Amino acid sequence: MEADGVVIGAGVIGLAAAAALASRQRSLLVLERRGGVGQEVSSRNSEVIHAGLYYPPGTLKARTCVEGRERLYQRCSEHRVPHRRTGKLVVATSPEELEGLSALAERALANGAGAVELLSAGEVSRREPRIRALGALWSPESGIVDARALVTSYQAEAEAHGAQIVLRTTVVALERDGDAWVVETESAEGDRFSVRSPVVINAAGLSADRVAQWAGLDIDRLGWRIHPCKGDYFAAVPSLGRLTERPVYPLPASGGLGIHVTPDLGGRYRLGPDVEYVDQPRYDVDPQKAEPFAEAVARYLPEIRTEHLTPEFAGVRPKLQRPGEAFRDFVIEEGSAHGAPGLVNLIGIESPGLTAAGAIAERVADWITGGSAL
Ligand SMILES: Cc1cc2nc3c(=O)[nH]c(=O)nc-3n(C[C@H](O)[C@H](O)[C@H](O)COP(=O)(O)OP(=O)(O)OC[C@H]3O[C@@H](n4cnc5c(N)ncnc54)[C@H](O)[C@@H]3O)c2cc1C
Repeated sequence: MEADGVVIGAGVIGLAAAAALASRQRSLLVLERRGGVGQEVSSRNSEVIHAGLYYPPGTLKARTCVEGRERLYQRCSEHRVPHRRTGKLVVATSPEELEGLSALAERALANGAGAVELLSAGEVSRREPRIRALGALWSPESGIVDARALVTSYQAEAEAHGAQIVLRTTVVALERDGDAWVVETESAEGDRFSVRSPVVINAAGLSADRVAQWAGLDIDRLGWRIHPCKGDYFAAVPSLGRLTERPVYPLPASGGLGIHVTPDLGGRYRLGPDVEYVDQPRYDVDPQKAEPFAEAVARYLPEIRTEHLTPEFAGVRPKLQRPGEAFRDFVIEEGSAHGAPGLVNLIGIESPGLTAAGAIAERVADWITGGSAL
């Protein structure tokens, strides 16, 4: 087979890229190893639309989050993706944390995260009567979204423009042949076929490092090896009623944003995620963690007890940093400088990837069709 472009991976990133590209390219193929779209990282996350509070200014995470957030709200309205601009609170429960809030507010302003406001303890309890905090950062541009519906909207748009999404088909090798790539695949039934294409978008999520390696890239030298980092969630029992009107976060913890309380669009509450580096992605949730989860959340939602929590699901972050290492940015890079021209690598797309997907996709499509820098 021949195609103008091949996308490896039908998560939110691959499908957003396919939707942005399909209208501009003649033939586009999306290859996905699972039986459906968005079954890995894209359906196992907090479903929060991030305003852009957290990331160092000028980084890809900061820029694509802020740009992607506005694109996302617009997309949700146009494509009827369930969502709500709820705003969110980041709370401080000690005097030291109040200083942390001020620093976060400065960073948010530098990033263009929209208006933010520091609230007193009294203002916090007026907005969220069940929350106890010494103060909070109010971010009105944050929100919640139905991640599956978002993924499906990108799939529908890509297909409407002629992209072909091939499920149950695993990419097993990538080889350079003249001025094109040969993408080798194997179906769930064991059938093999290959596709020749000048452009390949590596949006393989937790396996994106391996795909880059197949193309001959030295992922250790480049710092592109993924260190899977699991995050578990617990559900709060419905008898607790309406806990909060919006996501409530503590200050960020090492490796994650802290165990937060987030309502979904159906009115259920999810607590999580924690941070646990694992050798291989896995999705079990240890019921014993209910106790530390309850303790963490009780710091700002005091009525939460272990018996209120039931295991919900786990997600796995494709992290580039090992435990304790400093901030790492998204890798959004075309491979020419590393001897792999035409291979666009999207690696380490952890949070805020759901929010940033539309912005990442536009960058990729502009580079492929217009030659602009990524
Ligand atoms: C715990 C957690 C919480 C998060 N919370 C948020 C949040 O609140 N807000 C936010 O904006 N972001 C959040 N994120 C980040 C967001 O979910 C991700 O950035 C985004 O979903 C990544 O999408 P993706 O398409 O890169 O990966 P995926 O959805 O994993 O897609 C990659 C696809 O590639 C396929 N694939 C892999 N290898 C192959 C192969 N060899 N052949 C064929 N197919 C292959 C996989 O099956 C998969 O479907 C969170 C992430 C986690 C883990």
